This record gives sequence, structure tokens and C-alpha cells, in this order.
Amino acid sequence: MAEDYSVTGKDGKKYTPTIGIECHVQLRTKTKLFSEVDNDARGKEPNSCVSPVDYALPGMLPRLNGRAIKFAVRAGRAMNCEINPESRFDRKHYFYPDSPKGYQITQFYHPIIGAGYVELSSGRKIRIEHAHMEGDAGKLTHYATYSLVDLNRVDTPLIEIVSMPDIHSAQDAHDYAKELWRLMCYAGVTYGDLYNGNMRFDVNTSVAPEGAEELGTRTEVKNLNSFRSVERAVEYEIKRQIQVLEAGEKVKQETRGWNDATGQTTAQRSKEEAKDYRYMPEPDIPPVHLTEEFIENELKDFPLMPADYREKFRDTIKDDLLEILLDYPTLMKKLGDMDEKHITLMVNLFTSVLLAEEKSAEYLNDLPSAKDLNELAEMNEKKELSSTATKEVFLKLFDPQMKGRGTKNIAKELGLIQENDLGALEQIVDTVLAKPETKKAQEDYRAGEEKVLGFLIGQVMKESHGKANPSAVQQILREKLK
Ligand code: MN
Repeated sequence: MAEDYSVTGKDGKKYTPTIGIECHVQLRTKTKLFSEVDNDARGKEPNSCVSPVDYALPGMLPRLNGRAIKFAVRAGRAMNCEINPESRFDRKHYFYPDSPKGYQITQFYHPIIGAGYVELSSGRKIRIEHAHMEGDAGKLTHYATYSLVDLNRVDTPLIEIVSMPDIHSAQDAHDYAKELWRLMCYAGVTYGDLYNGNMRFDVNTSVAPEGAEELGTRTEVKNLNSFRSVERAVEYEIKRQIQVLEAGEKVKQETRGWNDATGQTTAQRSKEEAKDYRYMPEPDIPPVHLTEEFIENELKDFPLMPADYREKFRDTIKDDLLEILLDYPTLMKKLGDMDEKHITLMVNLFTSVLLAEEKSAEYLNDLPSAKDLNELAEMNEKKELSSTATKEVFLKLFDPQMKGRGTKNIAKELGLIQENDLGALEQIVDTVLAKPETKKAQEDYRAGEEKVLGFLIGQVMKESHGKANPSAVQQILREKLK
């Protein structure tokens, strides 16, 4: 470890935290992992997206969803991971009403995704141990004297990404969770809807005296669904575990729950070990064999990842601004498609206008074409549009009723194109100078009163219906009034 991550306890002793994160990512397939019912149960009645396979009725057999395999390949590529040519499914046994089969179908011995790494914005690399595919469990809602079971989520395709214990601070835990979310969204494998649990983080935290050979006993905080709660839970666990050690006690290996309101973790149950699940190969699903050709084909249109954009825009967009923009995958893709010389203007427009608008999320779903945006930038450069007019046209490009009409046409319709034709401008200036009401101002200017020039420019702008380029007008006026 090159950097000092140590945390000092009350007794002045230093401790080093070590964190590993498991993340479940819900894949955006149309149907479930082993059956052909709808995979998107948002807003639907409980138990309405369930097939006899998900109910585990006798005689039903699972059939593997090929689309989910393709998404797994993309997810692996996003994390610079090896894709294993052969992977297999296993049964993980446990008894609980959220799983009618009595086991979860997962990949224990031969996962589809092998070792890789995720690079944080700080440049630190967090190694990926592996990632495997599995079906989700159902959901229980507990009431005072009974519980209700909703199986809509049963066998929703997930990949579980397991990091190495390479994280040593709450900040890095936060950054890693966020970077994973970005990678999965950029790779297009998930909707990334955190509110609906599309990505859930399990955080393993331990602390050990600085310089100790062995890691301390770890706890696992399960089912965190925001980057902020990952950060807060790690922060809390580091403090709590140091206090336990300072009191001369031992940290218990256990699963703990997170309470977002109190900002605390509480003990739930002692941690199971692999042997408790009696893993065995899943006999109903044949091994998955991926040829090189299959993988290449799936990755041939693989999009740019956040790290690629950091490289690409290193000289055009400031680091901290870029980190904000990277949270909007559609926006980054659009900027990536644009002429490099227009990036600065576009970033200004998007940040000053769009990110300040309340409707930004809605706007960002449906961005104007790169062609329209490039044209807008060119009109601004040629001074055909003032900076205010550029912003106005920019916003109009998002208007569904203006879609496809083209930047130039919209600017024309709104009467925003500046008059740059010097001949035409001169004529307008002459008209204004011929008006009796400007005579006094002209005399005053010639007598040395600079400030009346503003009045005359205003008159010309009015005469041109706001289309004249003010700096060109000023130049012409100065010439004519010499
Ligand atoms: Mn899992």
C-alpha cells in the first residue's frame, strides 16, 4: 500500500481498514433467467410475473436466457475481466419462503467472468476476483403476525461482482460503487435504477492494527442501495470495530443490517460459510461454452467506458466537471460523437442550461443529434448566433415539436440569426443616422461624448429587429462618425 489509509483510535493506536464489496447487478433482459415471463416487474401486481418454472412446480425445467449470457460478457469486458470459455451453474441450498425451489441457481465453481479490475477516478485500481451469474430471490414483506411473499423477482437475472479486499477507506468504497454503476450503465447491461434495487451492494469491512500480517475479523453489511449508504456504512463499521478492539473485545463475524435513518448497523445473524449451503452442480442446465467468435461478435460495437472518456477529454474538460458529466452516460456518448473543437461550448451549454433545469433527467433521455449540435456550435462560432441566442436555440433542440427540423431552421423561425453581412448592416446604420431623432446623439459623439454610442447601437439593433451583430454595428458606427 503506497498510501496511508490508517485511522487513529482513541488510544492513539493506528488501524488499517480493509474492505471488499459484492455487488448484485440486475440485467435488463426482457425475460427472466430461466423462464419466459416479464423481467420488469416495476409497478406490477405481486406474483403477476411468475411462471411455473419460477414457482418450482414439479416437472418444470429451467432454460437459460441467452441474452443474459451476452450481457454478462459485456459486463466482464467493462471491468477488464477475463471471460471464461466454459462456465457452469450450481445449486446453493437454503430454506426460506422467498425461494420455492429450496435453492438458488448460481455459479459457485465455474463463474462466467474471471479476474479483472476497475479503475477509480483517482487512478486507483480495485481488482475483481470474479463475477458470476445467478437468479434473484423473491421478496418477503413482514407484518405483525404474518408475512407476504411476492415471487415477481424470482430468477431475475443477476451478475454478482466480487471485488478483492483492495479498498481501504469509506471514500474509495463510495467511488468503487459509483464506478461499477457507471460501468454497468455504459456497457448497457442494466437500467441502473438504484431506487428499484437494480444494483445492491454488500460491504465486507474489517480493521487490523497497522502493520499486522493478518486481516481482522470482517462483518458484512448487506443490501445497500446507494453510494452514500455504502460510504456511511463503511465509515460506521470502521469506527465501531475500532471501539470494540479498544475495549479489549473481539469483533464478531456476522451479517449486519443498515439503518439509513439512524446511520447505524445492527447485528442480524452470524455469517454462514460456504459449506452451510451444500453447493452442488445444477443438473438441469448444461455447461455454457463460449467461442472466441461469440465473444468477439458481442463486443464488436462495445462503447467507450468512463476511463476512455477521461483519456479523450483530458485536455478539453476539467477533471471535476468531467466527473459530474460522467454520471450521465447518454450525454457522454453524445459529447464523444461531436467535433472536438465544439466540446468546450457544448459542455458550457449542457452544464449552465441543462444540469440547472429541473427536467434534466427527462431531457437527457432524448438528446438532440450530434449533427444539430455541431451546426449550433458552428453558427455560434460564425457569430450568426449571439451567446444568448445560442442558448435559446439549444433549449429548443430538446423540444419534441422541434425535433428533426434542423438547427438553422429553428434559429430562422425564432428570428435569432444575426446580420453579419457588412453591406446590409451599413444600410441599416445609414437609415438610423438619417433619422432626425439621432442627430443630437451624432453631434454629441463627435464632440467627444463616447457614451452616446450605446444609444446609437441600440437604435441600429432596434432597426434590425435584434439581428445585427452588435460588435460589427459598433465598428461601422465609429467609422461613419469619424
Ligand atoms: Mn448472490
